[in-house]
Amino acid sequence: MPARILDGNALSAQLRGQLAERAQALKNRGVTPCLAVILVGEDPASQVYVRNKVAACEKAGMRSIKDVYPSDVAPAEVLARIAELNADPAVHGILVQLPLPRQFDSEAILAAISSDKDVDGFHADNVGALAQGNPRFIPCTPYGVMKMLEAGGVSLKGVEAVVVGRSNIVGKPMALLLLAQGATVTVCHSQTRDLAFHTRRADVLVAAVGRPRMITGDMIKPGAVVIDVGINRLPPEQGGKLCGDVDFESAKEVASLITPVPGGVGPMTITMLLTNTIESAERAAA
Ligand code: NDP
Repeated sequence: MPARILDGNALSAQLRGQLAERAQALKNRGVTPCLAVILVGEDPASQVYVRNKVAACEKAGMRSIKDVYPSDVAPAEVLARIAELNADPAVHGILVQLPLPRQFDSEAILAAISSDKDVDGFHADNVGALAQGNPRFIPCTPYGVMKMLEAGGVSLKGVEAVVVGRSNIVGKPMALLLLAQGATVTVCHSQTRDLAFHTRRADVLVAAVGRPRMITGDMIKPGAVVIDVGINRLPPEQGGKLCGDVDFESAKEVASLITPVPGGVGPMTITMLLTNTIESAERAAA
């Protein structure tokens, strides 16, 4: 029997409806949740991400501030703006769109954002809080995956979970979140000797690599839950479409539950950014 599909668009719509209600409740108390987004340079993908984030805020009844700088801006100017936003009590979330141009030390920029407004969850204080099992801001993509697993009724206690990818924004926080829910977690990466050996043991498999369709059906345990974080653009000669890290067609014949690309984890990432901003505003208003 083909796998059940975990629909990120449907879940996002449902969660964003709840977020709009929470935004309205805050507004009734005189607090308008506000996200500030800083974009440096003209990277087309970054421009699309920022536009989508700002539009999603407005749709949920939240305020957004968008600061755009040319790619040759001095880092000091951006740091000064971050300091201003940190000090502004009307701003609840601050996000600097990555990647930054070469003259920037990205870690220094992320460290400059107040950990109380770090809605991406990338500040070392928030990474540490997550590692200690006491999270404040959870990085949006793995947070979205956890919401999808919850919505799919997936119990994580004692299951074998395998995360492919160990980046700071997806793989590592994903592993910590699964661990916190009682899964036995294996993290694979580019130096993993026999990837299929690990993926075939997974009751829950999360792919966050950035390689089109690298996880094929024969690498998946029958009945597994498969979460595909990857977003890859196929070359024009292969149709130019978006695809994940999982070969959906072969995987869906083996898995019990699977996320599609597009329409899976992707829409959940912005939903969790809105969630983190609302949570921050609620904490500030408490
Ligand atoms: P990174 O490039 O930062 O990390 C990729 C990871 O995959 C690395 O840990 C790397 O290992 C590992 N890797 C590379 N090749 C292999 C291999 N052959 N076998 C096993 N592991 C391998 O990517 P991100 O974590 O930022 O993103 C991963 C994917 O998720 C991308 O497609 C990205 O577009 C997508 N993404 C989607 C989001 C969404 O909203 N759905 C949000 C963020 C990302 P090593 O550490 O050893 O180099």
